[in-house]
Amino acid sequence: MSVRPYRDIYRRPSRRIMVGEVPVGGDAPVTVQTMTNTLTADAAATIAQIRRCEIAGADIVRVSCPDAESTEALRHIVPEVTVPIVADIHFHYKRAIEAAEAGAACLRINPGNIGSAERVREVVRAAKDYGCSMRIGVNAGSLEKHLLEKYGEPCPEAMVESALEHARILEDNDFREFKISVKASDVFLAAAAYQQLAEACDYPLHLGVTEAGGLRAGTIKSSLGIGSLLWAGIGDTLRVSLSAEPEEEVRVGFDILKSLNLRHRGVNVISCPSCARQQFDVIETVKVLEDRLSHITTPMTVSVIGCVVNGPGEARETDIGFTGGGKGTHQVYIAGQPAHRLKDRDIVDHLVELVEAKAAEIEAEKAAAEETGGPKTQAADAAE
Ligand code: SF4
Repeated sequence: MSVRPYRDIYRRPSRRIMVGEVPVGGDAPVTVQTMTNTLTADAAATIAQIRRCEIAGADIVRVSCPDAESTEALRHIVPEVTVPIVADIHFHYKRAIEAAEAGAACLRINPGNIGSAERVREVVRAAKDYGCSMRIGVNAGSLEKHLLEKYGEPCPEAMVESALEHARILEDNDFREFKISVKASDVFLAAAAYQQLAEACDYPLHLGVTEAGGLRAGTIKSSLGIGSLLWAGIGDTLRVSLSAEPEEEVRVGFDILKSLNLRHRGVNVISCPSCARQQFDVIETVKVLEDRLSHITTPMTVSVIGCVVNGPGEARETDIGFTGGGKGTHQVYIAGQPAHRLKDRDIVDHLVELVEAKAAEIEAEKAAAEETGGPKTQAADAAE
């Protein structure tokens, strides 16, 4: 029994597959994916975008492979990046085989869409030969005709049936290294489809609310859809689909996981909305601070609170706390305890210094623990 059982999430048991060197499913951490929006055939631009996604924390990146130029470009892209690459294939089975040969770690392909049984066998053979996993990606907007006729409209049952039909084709080819997604732009439909699929199989699930919208609306929709599923223990990897740059998708994905305590990466800033009691400009301070701390990957919590109403209480639970005080004299907390006061100094500069020092300390402890094989400190243990 944990100390705070109301925070516990019991993840659905799922089989574990590998996407390159990244495990998905089983007891592996929930991974964050995104997708490039450069022309894949433009290898230099695609590599640059993937690297930006890596810096933002992406575990896995997907690229579209609509033509042979794209799969050819994969040969140049894969060796230049560290994250495993998923090749997004729609109907052309040859692109799947080329992508496997070119170093893709995973193929996003629906085997029911690529034609004959022989073509499926060829794709599976290539996946096995080159160590690729697959993702079956069902989308409410492109359900098979026979299922739309059977069910009348896209519904959770039709989506699950579609997913299981594709899964059966791979199983019949003795291939089980795949994950499944059942995405819809409607949050209710996506969530219900995932819930039903979670009951129907033990394959790892790739979560997503598709075509979710721009940064703000899409973040809210995704947080509700993906967040409610994760909270219920469903989901092994996720992609937040936004009409925004892929790095933003990665940041939102991590923020969803951080909110549910499922992953810890970088600084989790706890800040108040501010009001007439604030003793400094909370909104501007947090805006600049989040930006200045975006390079920190060490898991850490920082509270930035406008006044003593909530400041000391929030600081108690954080690595570094900051509370606005009267006459421009603010209170700094370290590890929940009052440490020193700050007056006539730039708040952001001071907090950045403290966070960087704390991050260095945690990383050093982690490295020392790894070297000696000894016990990690609690802080070091909080890493992903
Ligand atoms: S902590 Fe203080 S400044 Fe912030 S919202 Fe509450 S009362 Fe206002």
